[in-house]
Amino acid sequence: MAAHDDTAADITVGCQIPNDDASQYIASLRGRRIRLFVLGERVEEPVDHPLVRPSINAMAATYQLAVDEPELATAQSSLSGVRINRFLHITESAEDVVMQNRMQRRLGQATGTCFQRCVGMDAFNSLFSVTYEIDATHGTSYHERLKRFLRHCQRLNLVVGGAMTDPKGDRSRGPSEQEDPDLYTRIVERREDGIVVRGAKAHQTGCVNSHWIIVMPTIRLRPEDRDYAVCAAIPVDDPGLTFIYGRQSCDTRALEDGNIDVGNAEFSGQEALIVIEDVFVPWDRVLMCGETEFVAPLVERFTAYHRRSYVCKTGVGDVLIGAAATIADYNGVSRASHVRDKLVEMSHLNETIYSAGIAASHESFRTAAGNYEPDGLLANVCKHNVTRFPYEMARLAQDLAGGLMVTCPSEKDLASPEVGAVLKKYLKGRADVTTEDRVRMLRLIENMTLGRNAVGYLTESLHGAGSPQAQRIQIARQMEIETKKKLAKRLARIEDSGEGD
Ligand code: SF4
Ligand code: FE
Repeated sequence: MAAHDDTAADITVGCQIPNDDASQYIASLRGRRIRLFVLGERVEEPVDHPLVRPSINAMAATYQLAVDEPELATAQSSLSGVRINRFLHITESAEDVVMQNRMQRRLGQATGTCFQRCVGMDAFNSLFSVTYEIDATHGTSYHERLKRFLRHCQRLNLVVGGAMTDPKGDRSRGPSEQEDPDLYTRIVERREDGIVVRGAKAHQTGCVNSHWIIVMPTIRLRPEDRDYAVCAAIPVDDPGLTFIYGRQSCDTRALEDGNIDVGNAEFSGQEALIVIEDVFVPWDRVLMCGETEFVAPLVERFTAYHRRSYVCKTGVGDVLIGAAATIADYNGVSRASHVRDKLVEMSHLNETIYSAGIAASHESFRTAAGNYEPDGLLANVCKHNVTRFPYEMARLAQDLAGGLMVTCPSEKDLASPEVGAVLKKYLKGRADVTTEDRVRMLRLIENMTLGRNAVGYLTESLHGAGSPQAQRIQIARQMEIETKKKLAKRLARIEDSGEGD
């Protein structure tokens, strides 16, 4: 690919507006010709759509935090020589990796949902080392292209989504064995000036709220899968992309008047299916093209970053613990010892998730390319905890909330001239707390454990960044069982035959 190198050219497609803060970011999303479908209808302006807007607000929080707490959410980049949003930073020390986790917890606390921007951060950092290593082996120039693209994104403070998950079709077959070859994203044409890409990416977090996506392979590949080994940056307003919005539980409550029944009126996550219909990508935005042997390292490194990024859920967990404690207050039972114990249990689970994630970041090591990567084993343990503990925390929060959380009449009934007064009388908890506040807190717990933000807090915790079995495979690879057997045999004074039995 070196013959096609044109790394000096400017990037003239996609967003060209610098986004310094949340309002500039939101303004930058207006007027794009993005092909988006929500509930079966084409949406011309997602910024004003009531189902989409809360997810834009959550992404915008990543901009606001950089203004409000620059020590936490910005970093000095030696790549561009300026202070940039931390989500666009290539980690230059283990402390940088740790700071990502601290920022993620803070944003989880601020939004109570998935704020969507970590996927690009983790994609950039894993591609940084992998492109360096591909170039060292093949004499390509992917690493320079990546740095150039990254500088552009840093300069304009853009959102870049890492698009990894393919639809995958028949799971017992590899990409090139599928009846329909498009079920994994692939190169359908190699041209003098670039490549043409076709396929789809599923469950894409924050993609509509992004300026760019970087497609990456989802699964380790064999040499015959060469066309599937593709990484490429595509602007979201490319006419060849179609976005079909994912439904979320209770999502249409956002179409109703009022702000009580939605539970968390301001913030939500976002997932969509991206269909990629023969999109042309010039060589300067191609970051992998056929190097199948580097796909496994890319997937492994991306997941090492991303699985410890899931400490985001501990910030959301902080909100849920606060909501559970508040509803216990409102119900007048905060002094009961079992209530206290349930809050302790929730906190223990939440901090156990955080412990493994932050430890993975502290144990980061320097890659050959010079950036820092978290410890893979601890990162997988973090994510594996995330597949379980939020469910138990949700159960405990529902236990403390009581059944009214799911039997409570609507906001419209509370406001009704005919039944509003009796509802307020009979749904009252402690005398000094209004019924409306009690209902608001119940709706927040409902939102996080059954409603639209349960998508992020529960099912995304289970399947995002890989389902539980994917972490168990990685843990099995890295648990060094033979070394541990030797430790045991030595103390038991058993002579080691060296055969690993
Ligand atoms: Fe970030 Fe968490 Fe959302 Fe992933 S699930 S994008 S780590 S907030
Ligand atoms: Fe995710």
